[in-house]
Amino acid sequence: MVVGTRLLTEPVMTNKQRIVVEQALLGEGYEPSGPVEITLLNGCIESIEPSGSSQSRRLLAVPALADAHNHARPLSTTSFGCGGKPLESWLPQLATMPSVDAYTAAAASFARSLAGGATSVMVHLTRPMGLMPLPEEACRIAQAAHDVGVSIGFAVSMRDRNPLIYGDHSSLLPALDDNQRCIAERTWLRPSLSVSAQMALVESVAEAVESMPGHIDVQFGPTGVQWCTDELLSAIAKASALSGRRIHMHLLETVPQRTWADDVYPQGIVAHLSEIGLLSPRLTLAHCVWANSAELTTLAEAGCRIAVNPSSNLHLQSGIAPVPVMLQCGVDVAMGLDGCALDEDDDGLRELRLFNLLNQSHGFSAEAMTPTKALRAACSAGRAGLGLEAGGILAPGMPADVLLLDLSALDRDALMEVDVRDYLFSRATKSHIVEAYSRGRRVIEEGRVTGVDIATLEAELRASMREGLKAKKDVIECWLAIEESIAVHYKGCC
Ligand SMILES: [Zn+2]
Repeated sequence: MVVGTRLLTEPVMTNKQRIVVEQALLGEGYEPSGPVEITLLNGCIESIEPSGSSQSRRLLAVPALADAHNHARPLSTTSFGCGGKPLESWLPQLATMPSVDAYTAAAASFARSLAGGATSVMVHLTRPMGLMPLPEEACRIAQAAHDVGVSIGFAVSMRDRNPLIYGDHSSLLPALDDNQRCIAERTWLRPSLSVSAQMALVESVAEAVESMPGHIDVQFGPTGVQWCTDELLSAIAKASALSGRRIHMHLLETVPQRTWADDVYPQGIVAHLSEIGLLSPRLTLAHCVWANSAELTTLAEAGCRIAVNPSSNLHLQSGIAPVPVMLQCGVDVAMGLDGCALDEDDDGLRELRLFNLLNQSHGFSAEAMTPTKALRAACSAGRAGLGLEAGGILAPGMPADVLLLDLSALDRDALMEVDVRDYLFSRATKSHIVEAYSRGRRVIEEGRVTGVDIATLEAELRASMREGLKAKKDVIECWLAIEESIAVHYKGCC
């Protein structure tokens, strides 16, 4: 067993549950079935049999989604003035968000992910609340995941260079007065922990969550090559090879990152990662929007998977990931939401449709994207990166991670027999989710998350944030001065 991974030992639901649906997307092909009875036992699908009994409610069973890249942010970042800007400006601005209670923040985020169709979520904790030691905060987050009913991967954020821009920071600071410089230094430019301290912190987090209920797979979370020195990445590569601990990292998300990488690693950034031993099936890379086909082939050969985040890439002006090329190169492509769905509502079903539409071939050329490929990316491919067993497929023996969708609403005109996948891929949103099962536990009933109350959690978060923002006034003012310099830097260099 891999370090940091615990198989779920506590009871999932031990009683037998029977679900009768008019249609289900079955097996690896996600083929429509006709009426079936699905039996769940001990957290798994025990059997799926044709059913003769008719139900008053028309339901479509589909596998639940596995969100392969997320950050468990408490509220949408646009509410903090971070909307409509490139990643390089958006990311440091997140420091203007106040810290709030870690449990409430995580529970709200997980509940929204679940309401959006995901029963498993990757948490790359790039902005811990920091109000308590990280191992303790991780326990609160694990508890929140358990209460909501989602399985999580948990990557501890690691970084030690380029806090504000990729490169020399000296040009940024002259624009600031003494007071602002002071604020900038304590907000963005604090010295990083040493490599050994960062490595030790991951182990402390893993130890702390060991006794927590539910599935939590603790991982190394280097934020990206431009933010991590070679020394840090090499240490992670070595430790991962020794212990089997997984790694989760952003790579080549934006044009400025590509430009920086080509400059710093003329031999090729992926070749460099290969050289230091970072590439393996233990590695999940988020984005890779600007990876070329030679790099994608190297990643595929090493067994790395890529988590593609279509809406996030659009919101942050990063581009559109070359998913058809990734698939052609043999990469295992998974889908993530990156906390930044199209409507900032964590709707995984809308994201699935966007993923499918953005990657379609044009006209009648060979199909680059199909419902099967899209469903595999959204439901199945991400699971290994979260330390979960195979799943995301409705078949006997698979984990009972299932969504029941309102087929009457999807087939709103009810005129003729139509392949239900056409409805799924043209109109499904989270509003169609009637029930959800996570490892056999019913976690959504009548469209409502059962474990926590999202409205109450979000009301608490908004109140805390409003209070916290009062103390952030000087940081926000300082940020406005820095933001200007950041834009000048990138316009100049890229
Ligand atoms: Zn991300």
